[in-house]
Amino acid sequence: MEGKGKVNGVAAMAACYQGFDPAAYLQYNYTPPRADFERKDSIVPWKLACLHRAFTEGDVRGELLVDIGSGPTLYQVLSGCEVFNKVLLTDFLEVNRQELRGWLEDEGGCNLDWTPYLQHVCKLEGRRPSAWTEKAAKLRQVITDIVPVDVHRPQPLALYALPSEGADCLVSCFCLESVSPDLAAFTRALGHIGRLLRTGGHLLLIGALGESYYFGGPGVRIPVVPLNEAQVCASLKESGYTLIRLEVYTLPQDMRVGVDDVSGVFFVKAIKE
Ligand code: SAM
Repeated sequence: MEGKGKVNGVAAMAACYQGFDPAAYLQYNYTPPRADFERKDSIVPWKLACLHRAFTEGDVRGELLVDIGSGPTLYQVLSGCEVFNKVLLTDFLEVNRQELRGWLEDEGGCNLDWTPYLQHVCKLEGRRPSAWTEKAAKLRQVITDIVPVDVHRPQPLALYALPSEGADCLVSCFCLESVSPDLAAFTRALGHIGRLLRTGGHLLLIGALGESYYFGGPGVRIPVVPLNEAQVCASLKESGYTLIRLEVYTLPQDMRVGVDDVSGVFFVKAIKE
């Protein structure tokens, strides 16, 4: 019975995602006020600063970086693409993989212009903003593939997608809590993605705090597991990670724009034991 319940919860989440609209999702979350590069307290600059710091401290390195549940977004690999020779993007939905392929092939028609993001990360790296074209070229050069993923499977990626030793680093943003029916499934998913990571490899995890739903498109209400910091730490421990750092961002009132009920964001840097 318990096994069947698990399957039903996961299947219900997958059904919610059938209405996901990449263009709307990008508009809700990746334009001002949430992506206002003039404001230090805007959510996207906060995330980019966390990722920049994590990727430039010197301990996160290797050959292969894998992004779990990329969605239609690229911001999460803009710092990592300078450190890793190979970056693998993944998502559950073909519409999101298509959006990413559109950018990779540079044929126009993307639903978001990533230029201000590229410029902002260049600035964080102490480069002139005009270096964004070099960063875009670098990113296109290191992305090796965009493949399907399902974090509810014990083996989330196709076997051919990864070398046998696993990835050197995983990044995953707003994925696990927004695709899991409950906390137990979130913790299991953390364990599943850990199997893709080599021992001693890093996990950089960004996620929502206190969120019970978000809109993946007009009228597409997707349930989320509401998490607090203690639950995130306990799930990491249970799934075989050692926490290095947890940072928390609290949403200012004017970032609460009616597309979800998120109250904060966590950033985790951890190591696989
Ligand atoms: N990483 C992006 C970001 O930071 O905005 C997208 C996050 S979005 C809230 C959640 C993503 O999880 C969607 O792109 C969705 O397609 C993906 N997803 C849905 N079900 C999934 C599953 N079972 N396994 C992995 N990813 C899934």
